[in-house]
Parts: sequence; structure tokens; C-alpha cells
Amino acid sequence: MSQHLLTLTATQALEKLRSKEISATELTQASLARLEARKGLNAALTITAESALAQAQAADAAIAKGETAGKPLLGLPVGVKDLFCTQGIRTTAASKMLENFVPAYESTVTAKLWAAGAVNVAKLNMDEYAMGGSGENSAFGPTKNPWDEARVPGGSSSGSAAAVADYQCFAATGSDTGGSIRQPAAFTGTVGIKPTYGRCSRWGMVAFASSLDQAGVFGRTVADAALMLHTIAGHDPKDSTSAPLEVPNWPQTLGQLNIKGLRIGLPKEYFIEGLNPEIRTAVLGAAKAFEAQGAEIVEISLPSTPYAVAAYYIVAPAEAASNLARYDGMRYGLRVEGKNLVETYTNSRTAGFGDEVKRRIMVGNYALSSGYYDAYYTKAMQARTLIANEFAAAFEKVDVLFCPTAPSLPFKIGAKANDPVSLYLEDAFTIPASMAGLPGISVPCAMGAEEGTALPIGLQILGPRWGEEKILQVAHAWEHLRGAFTIPFKS
Ligand code: GLN
Repeated sequence: MSQHLLTLTATQALEKLRSKEISATELTQASLARLEARKGLNAALTITAESALAQAQAADAAIAKGETAGKPLLGLPVGVKDLFCTQGIRTTAASKMLENFVPAYESTVTAKLWAAGAVNVAKLNMDEYAMGGSGENSAFGPTKNPWDEARVPGGSSSGSAAAVADYQCFAATGSDTGGSIRQPAAFTGTVGIKPTYGRCSRWGMVAFASSLDQAGVFGRTVADAALMLHTIAGHDPKDSTSAPLEVPNWPQTLGQLNIKGLRIGLPKEYFIEGLNPEIRTAVLGAAKAFEAQGAEIVEISLPSTPYAVAAYYIVAPAEAASNLARYDGMRYGLRVEGKNLVETYTNSRTAGFGDEVKRRIMVGNYALSSGYYDAYYTKAMQARTLIANEFAAAFEKVDVLFCPTAPSLPFKIGAKANDPVSLYLEDAFTIPASMAGLPGISVPCAMGAEEGTALPIGLQILGPRWGEEKILQVAHAWEHLRGAFTIPFKS
């Protein structure tokens, strides 16, 4: 019975909640039981059973009284990436530095979820401080991919992707700085959307690289993702980089796409050597399916694409080095006493940060140091401008771009652990849109296989600034053209 409930889509579950066919308490209990039973995947860092049941009871009471207006997620169990501060609930960013950090305030994104009636069932695993692309950089152990537990679920939002794919919750928040929502969505057969930079408030999110970080969501269908994103988006006076724009009603406009005349661009720099041939075939096949329905396919060139990864791995570490300077053992987080102030700083940071975080801090400080600043940081920012300009020119010619989300299928845990550069190259197709601040969605495209194991392939759809409506519509249309895509329910 509980298995059956958890395989509903969020949209279906919400209908059953509103019609009182099921209760929020029953649904939350099912989700909590699955989180416990499936702990082996290491998707959750904290299961918030007590507060979840209290939220569920409140939802049931509101439904009983008919007080459902303005609460589109009333009674829905969702998970939260563990870098969104949750008041009174431990928020670790998967770092030893914040292992015992209990925020005194709530992030804007999560506050909006609870105001909409969602139930917080768990804080989810991730790469430490969102630095990584596999989930293996968590201080609390790697997350496993539910399709094949020997493989990574992608990262950095590893727990969010795995928990949604494993039916532990109906949807989850994530954050995407260079691909951390889209790539794990591709690796787990879920839908993941990163909106335009500035669409969601970053207030209360543990910072990695502030000019790139953006909140977004995971769901098992495009409709579920649209509903979640619509709830968390919008201007926030507490984040000056959040845009003072109306949030369109994405859930409502989802089905309004006219495929005839839709212009789909295929950027040739994304179909390069090194791209897994099954992924190439799958993504080109999706474009052909749209063409058969009357869409126009246009070859596009984005010549600066090959510089995006190198530029990102200057800009992101530079910002990270500055943001992480706050963890000094004095104000909050881990403190390891030394004989004097400097030694306490050193001891706390040595014990608190993992290797990848230390690597980023060193690269970032190096790139920002006098004498090197112009050679690295300034150059990287110039590349960033070129990338953004090329995208802007492309979106004069096409409505959306189709490309692979990731160049490979989910790889084995440990396969890239000792080779950071090969892991950085996994982001080659997600980083460019991040550098330009553009919205992107990954939606299940087809199945591939490696060593006899069936593994999901993601289609990435990119849009122009504030173009979430179009990419959601196209992704939704793709779900219909593609046909059913079901993630196995394992026990
Ligand atoms: N994998 C990329 C990195 O390690 C992107 C991470 C992210 O988007 N947070 O920086």
C-alpha cells in the first residue's frame, strides 16, 4: 500500500490529498518509512520525522477545514538539499565544518515551501559545500545511485536526485552552480531544473560561488518540477541579486506549446568526440522527434564553449575562497583550539574542510593573488562574457537549445576519485549555461547501458534569460513524444 502511494507523481498525490482520498500523515509516514528502509543509499543526512509529522498533521487539519487557498503543496513530502538553512534543523552542507550547525533562521526558498504546505521529510546528502559532480565529496560518505548502487548519482545535489529517484520523497530542492541539479537529474532519470540566475533567492543558502549559485528543483515529471519551481521562485528583498520580476504561472502554461515552428538549435560544440555515442544518438533522436512534429532544427555554433570549464574553475574557486573565509572557528562551525588565534584558525580549517574544498580554496586564492589576478581571474571573466554573448546571439536564431546534459553515463563510485580534472570535464555541457546565468532543464531522454546495466540518459534543454516557461513547455512536450519513462521501485 505505502509503496503504491509513493509511486504517485506529486501532482497525483496532491489531488488525492485535496479530495481526502489519502491523508498527509499517511503519506508522510510512508515517506519516512522509505527513508529509513533505504538508508543504505545514503541519500539523507537528517531524517526530520518529528517535525515532518507535525507539519503533516497541520496540513490534514487545514484540509479538513477547507483552508487550502494559496497552499499548492499542502501535505506533500519533499526533501531539502542540506545547504538550505532550516531553522532549528541541522544544516551541514555535508561538511565536518558544519556537522553540528543548527541555523537560527530559515532560507527563503524553504520558507516558501513550508508556506505552500509542503512537508520537510529530510535534509539530503551532497558534495561538501556543493563542490563536486558525483556526490563522493560528502564528509558523510557517498550517495549511491538507485539504478545501480555501485555507481554515483551525480552531484553535487546527489541526495536530492537519489531520494527523488528512489521514491523516498516526491520532489526536492537542489542548487546548481555549474551543473549540480542538471547532471544528477540526468544520472538518476529525474527531471531537474536550474532557473535563470536571479530567479530564486539565495538568502539562507550556504554560499559556494555567489555569482553562479542558483536554487532549483528535482521531480519525477516536468509538471512536478514546474509546480515546485513556481513555489520557490520570486523576488526577495533579502537577496539583492534576486530579480524583481513577476513569476509566470508555469504549471498552468505547461501544455500551451505549439511545436510547429519551434526553432531548436543544436550547438555543434556539444556533440564532440568523447561524447558517449548512445547519448549522442538519444539527444539527436529527441530533436528528430520534434522535427517530425513540425519543429525546425538549426545548427548553432558557440565557439567559446571549450573555454567554459577552464574559466569556471577559476571563477568558482575564487568566489569560494572568499565565501569560505568566514569559517574561522570563531563565529560558528567547528572550532579546534590552538595556542593562539592563527593556530585556532588553521586547526579549525584543517580539520573542518575536506580535500576538494581545500583544493578550491588554494586555487581560488592563487588566482586572486596580486600578480596572477590579471592572468587568471580577469581572463576567465573575459571568457565568461564571450560565452554569454554567444548564447545571446544564438537565442536570436532559436527558441531553445538541445544538448546532452553530461558526456557519460553514471560512472562507478571511485572511478574518478583520484583524478579531479576528469571529474571537472564531466561538467563541460552544464557549465556554459551557468557562466551565462541561463536556465536549463534535464529531462529523461532514453536508456543507455554499460556492462549490461541499464542507465538513464538526460536531454538538456537550454533557454534564454527568464525563459523558464519555454524550456518547461518543451520538456513537457518531450515527455509526451518520448512516452512513459518509469524509474524502477526497488526494495
Ligand atoms: N561539478 C561542479 C563543481 O564541482 C558544479 C557543482 C555545482 O553546480 N554546485 O564545481
